[in-house]
Amino acid sequence: MIELVWFKRDLRAADHAPLAMAAKSGPVLPLAVVESDYWKLPETSSRHYLFWRESIDDLRRQGVPLCVRIGEVTAILKALHDSHGIRRIWSHEETGNAWTYERDKSVTRWCRENSVGWKQIRQFGVLRGPTDRDRWAKQWEAFMAEPLAKLPDNITYADTTGDQLPSHEGLGLTYAPCPQRQRGGRTEGLALFESFLSSGRARHYQRAMSSPTSAAEACSRLSPHLAYGTLSMREVVQRAYSEVSALKAVPPDHQPIPPRGLNAFIARLHWHCHFIQKLESEPETEWRDLHPAFRDARTQGFGDPLFEAWANGNTGFPFVDACMRSLIATGWINFRMRAMLVAFASYHLWLDWRATGTRLAQLFTDYEPGIHWPQVQMQSGSTAINTPRLYNPVKQSHDQDPDGIFIKQWVPELSKLKGRAVHEPWTLSPLEAREQGFILDESYPAPIIDHEAAARAARERLTRIRASDGFYQHQRAIYLKHGSRKSSRHTPKQGRAWVKKKPANQLELDL
Ligand SMILES: Cc1cc2nc3c(=O)[nH]c(=O)nc-3n(C[C@H](O)[C@H](O)[C@H](O)COP(=O)(O)OP(=O)(O)OC[C@H]3O[C@@H](n4cnc5c(N)ncnc54)[C@H](O)[C@@H]3O)c2cc1C
Repeated sequence: MIELVWFKRDLRAADHAPLAMAAKSGPVLPLAVVESDYWKLPETSSRHYLFWRESIDDLRRQGVPLCVRIGEVTAILKALHDSHGIRRIWSHEETGNAWTYERDKSVTRWCRENSVGWKQIRQFGVLRGPTDRDRWAKQWEAFMAEPLAKLPDNITYADTTGDQLPSHEGLGLTYAPCPQRQRGGRTEGLALFESFLSSGRARHYQRAMSSPTSAAEACSRLSPHLAYGTLSMREVVQRAYSEVSALKAVPPDHQPIPPRGLNAFIARLHWHCHFIQKLESEPETEWRDLHPAFRDARTQGFGDPLFEAWANGNTGFPFVDACMRSLIATGWINFRMRAMLVAFASYHLWLDWRATGTRLAQLFTDYEPGIHWPQVQMQSGSTAINTPRLYNPVKQSHDQDPDGIFIKQWVPELSKLKGRAVHEPWTLSPLEAREQGFILDESYPAPIIDHEAAARAARERLTRIRASDGFYQHQRAIYLKHGSRKSSRHTPKQGRAWVKKKPANQLELDL
């Protein structure tokens, strides 16, 4: 009989509680499954698969003789049960999408029918079942403070042959080139974390995270490693806290990294789980507007000319297009620009967030359903508990890329333009344009919309939606279920009072 450890999005041996516990119970079969049907889902892409595959290879180099099988999980379990006898399955809890949720239900059924136990262990500060948001932050801290799981010195592994890892073409994934994609594997993840903390990348974290010109260097870039579990969240949190303590012992003038910056980083690690909790508590967030007043409000998506222009970085708004093209080529963009891309699509273009969210999921190497869908809904306004933020695409351009360096890097058609024209090429007179060798709508698209008129129309639509019957009652219920109680503005008691006074009632414009 074997203890089967099912590696999902936890591709590491360190701080891997299921592996450590299974190893104490008997011979271990470490299994990873290439689930062909999963890779047919519209939000998956070759960049996800390649990162996953690199992480598998690295895990094997860490000494885990992983058996990879291709196919449907219950069929694979049946075959392994027939050949080896499975005493118990061990895995981490997963908050995935609707597809993985249904798959886990089939595995539960299979286990019940075959009298095989399935022990699932938490790996994030996310709770299953009914949760009390008022006490959530405390449980997160307690979970992160628990000791890291230690593997026994000698693990007996069961001897099994697996399948060859298929290529992405073999899985039917269309290859979308991503030349600057982050590489998978724990070795890469650890090096990245080290360079964030020790080589001082974190020094300017707080100040540099908003602009795409500086964020790629100043942010940790750990997101795909946390999404695929090559690093454990607990080890990252514990290391960050210990760095903060060490820094506090150093006089402020000699601190290589301001502790405030690292605390801001820790706050985001907390958000990671806070957002995943939303999807865990309401899986419909992946496909249904949280607030009923937004349902059916936006219907246009794939195939719509506005969608296609946005999805390919051809909207005629240089900063928006630079962000999209950079994301296509690197698989990453900073938080503020992710928010702007969604807000521009959801408000100015009034596109359906399900379509734009699917496109972004394909492009983010770090696609994590539990963060992604609640964030996409939040930036589209359909959660109704967060202040709707309409980003002015021209103001963002001047604020975040004043010299147009980022735009010129990613939209080379504009590289010869000078001054304000890089941000707003449509303001050039025909004579100025000719002098700079530029022809609007030939060299580069004219804007696909009048952004001021589109923002006005979006505000009017939002005002109508918010005036609908029962809007604030639904909003209150959503806040009580999902709202953050962490910020000083919304402590539990104040939060309840605040929500009674019409939360998120104003629009934030022209950010
Ligand atoms: C529309 C939209 C979609 C997003 N989709 C994803 C996604 O699929 N996967 C994903 O990991 N992040 C997502 N984010 C959150 C955030 O943009 C990324 O986590 C961050 O940019 C990753 O870069 P980093 O690792 O350098 O982050 P850092 O700033 O170094 O933060 C460290 C870690 O904290 C977590 N984190 C940071 N910011 C947030 C946030 N705002 N919300 C939740 N967790 C956060 C991430 O795990 C991140 O790796 C999304 C944000 C938006 C607005």
